[in-house]
Amino acid sequence: MTPNKEDYIKAIYHLGGADGLVGTKQIADALNISLASVSEMLGKLGRDGLLEYEAYKGSKLTEKGLQMALALIRGHRLWEVFLIRHLDYSWREAHEDAELLEHISPQRLTSRLDKFLNFPAYCPHGSAIPNSDGQMNKSSLQSLDQLSVGESSNIRMVVEDNELMDYLQGLGIEIGSSVTVIEIGAYEGPFTLALKDRQIQLSHKAACQIYVDQVTQS
Ligand SMILES: [Zn+2]
Repeated sequence: MTPNKEDYIKAIYHLGGADGLVGTKQIADALNISLASVSEMLGKLGRDGLLEYEAYKGSKLTEKGLQMALALIRGHRLWEVFLIRHLDYSWREAHEDAELLEHISPQRLTSRLDKFLNFPAYCPHGSAIPNSDGQMNKSSLQSLDQLSVGESSNIRMVVEDNELMDYLQGLGIEIGSSVTVIEIGAYEGPFTLALKDRQIQLSHKAACQIYVDQVTQS
């Protein structure tokens, strides 16, 4: 599928384009398309007033672009809550269908959905949901691979990658689960974790994409 304008705006937002310049190559890599197509679209989005595009330097979202990104993310995350809470979707299924629904959700629909769901602050994968003013909770988290043996924390957020989500749900990992590191394999080997009343093995790669409450060093 060819990414549309909204996919670009969201990708630039996720790459940090609300605060600084995002390189054209980064956008091409994120959307998996050629540099030439990206440059062409960036020119268009610039003319639409959604971003400031400086050739060879990068792109930064304008206020209008930022509002568009936040509206899309809000729709995406609210739909995920709905699909998991009411239609029994898995993590991956909810993310996939929310990718479609976010593009056809006018503001009226998302605000009714928000109310219906009782104004959730987080999506089922643990990412904060912007409110109707575009404000969202910020929490200081660290990735699970930063924990040392013996340390415990609570899982708060996972990266929304399809394969990762299936893998983690297969292991029984949930947002809010408390985990303790039992052992860390040498040379970026797997993590052995205590999760509820059992032990699981988690790959190092996955540990880097799971975020937990910051452990305060005492
Ligand atoms: Zn999500």
